[in-house]
Amino acid sequence: MDDLRTLYQELIVDHNRKPRNFRSMDHPSHLANGNNPLCGDRIIVFVKVEGDQIVDISFQGEGCAISTASASLMTQQLKGKSLAEAKAIFQNFHDTVTSNMGEKLDLDETAKKLGKLAVLAGVRSFPSRVKCATLPWHTMQGALENSTEEFTTEH
Ligand code: ZN
Repeated sequence: MDDLRTLYQELIVDHNRKPRNFRSMDHPSHLANGNNPLCGDRIIVFVKVEGDQIVDISFQGEGCAISTASASLMTQQLKGKSLAEAKAIFQNFHDTVTSNMGEKLDLDETAKKLGKLAVLAGVRSFPSRVKCATLPWHTMQGALENSTEEFTTEH
């Protein structure tokens, strides 16, 4: 268990240091700004959808290690997925980091369900960190819904 936690910690550090898909996009079909004033995380998520598929997704911004790692992992997970698949992944991830705070997390089970995203499941013990981890996802969803409003985790 401790080895797994150490591995997760290292993955978060790695994605924070070298975020994947950290770039702007020339002609995104969707984009949105996200803002987490509690922590100071700011993010822009760019998405290119063709037909029903996310053919490209990237992000820029400045945030803490958790929000940056979450955004990086998110872009890796969602690239190439259909919109329905992306929605299901978001739902799974969101449920894991927000529910059953009191219960002990079964890491094996979580890893099966979420793949690499399981590295972020530990934030559920820290409500303020949950907002950091979910910000990129809410922003992505806002982008797909063509929301022009800035997304803030406070509401
Ligand atoms: Zn943060």
